[in-house]
Amino acid sequence: MDIFYLGTGASEGWPALFCQCSACAKARELGGKNLRSRTSVQIDGEYKFDVPPDTYHHVLTHGLNLSNIKHLIVTHCHGDHYYWQELQHRSAPFAHIYDDTGLDVYGDVWVEELADWERLARGGIRFNLIEANSSYDVGDARLHAFQANHFIDKGALIYVFEKDGISLLYGNDTGFFYEEVWDRLKDFKLDVVSLDCTHGEDDVWNNHMGIPAILETRSRMLKEGIAHDETIFVATHFSHNGRLLHHELEEVLNPQGFVVAYDGMRLAVSKGK
Ligand SMILES: [Zn+2]
Ligand SMILES: [Zn+2]
Ligand SMILES: [Zn+2]
Repeated sequence: MDIFYLGTGASEGWPALFCQCSACAKARELGGKNLRSRTSVQIDGEYKFDVPPDTYHHVLTHGLNLSNIKHLIVTHCHGDHYYWQELQHRSAPFAHIYDDTGLDVYGDVWVEELADWERLARGGIRFNLIEANSSYDVGDARLHAFQANHFIDKGALIYVFEKDGISLLYGNDTGFFYEEVWDRLKDFKLDVVSLDCTHGEDDVWNNHMGIPAILETRSRMLKEGIAHDETIFVATHFSHNGRLLHHELEEVLNPQGFVVAYDGMRLAVSKGK
């Protein structure tokens, strides 16, 4: 499985659009892995999690052509993950797609409610409703949805994505998982776990997470057999309010068994690795 982190920042990006804080100033000065656009991950060239407002930046930076994406899986309707208006550019005259098989979008009722699906259908886009605690065929993959600890007024989903014998948990945006989700995760042995670490070293457990919460998530997964010795744990979706720069995050998280994601990071995961 080729897991391509296109963006690894929280809602406002890092450096944040309008911010004068020292963490943003340092990111501007140091550049490189400290520059974090809004969060999205592409898998095996055909699957993508979320459509953030930085999607066009991702296309330019990484030389992508989104006509290759066949399945767009949306975590929730917050604007940093779901800038649905961009999908309008999949229809003519904005796009010319030959032998088009369409684009399937997956999301909850709030994702459905926001967009103009009649308009999007003109670009070959189909909506597929996803509910927590349910499983779906998505192309050659199997998708399992769970309620995230995030945006309690409406909702958000975390996903287990299984393909070619590899299972990935895509866990943002979310706080520490609900007990009901922990129960359900016992059915899995995850190979890759990608977690929300919005708050850096701060002790935050709800809505988003900080380092103490993701460390507890890892150790509980290992203890309960949800993860194994070679499971890759990734921290992502960082905010300037968490303060730790990329090298500082690595200093804290690498010894604890975490990879710190950055924009453009690519993981090639194969069975038996
Ligand atoms: Zn977010
Ligand atoms: Zn800032
Ligand atoms: Zn959110």
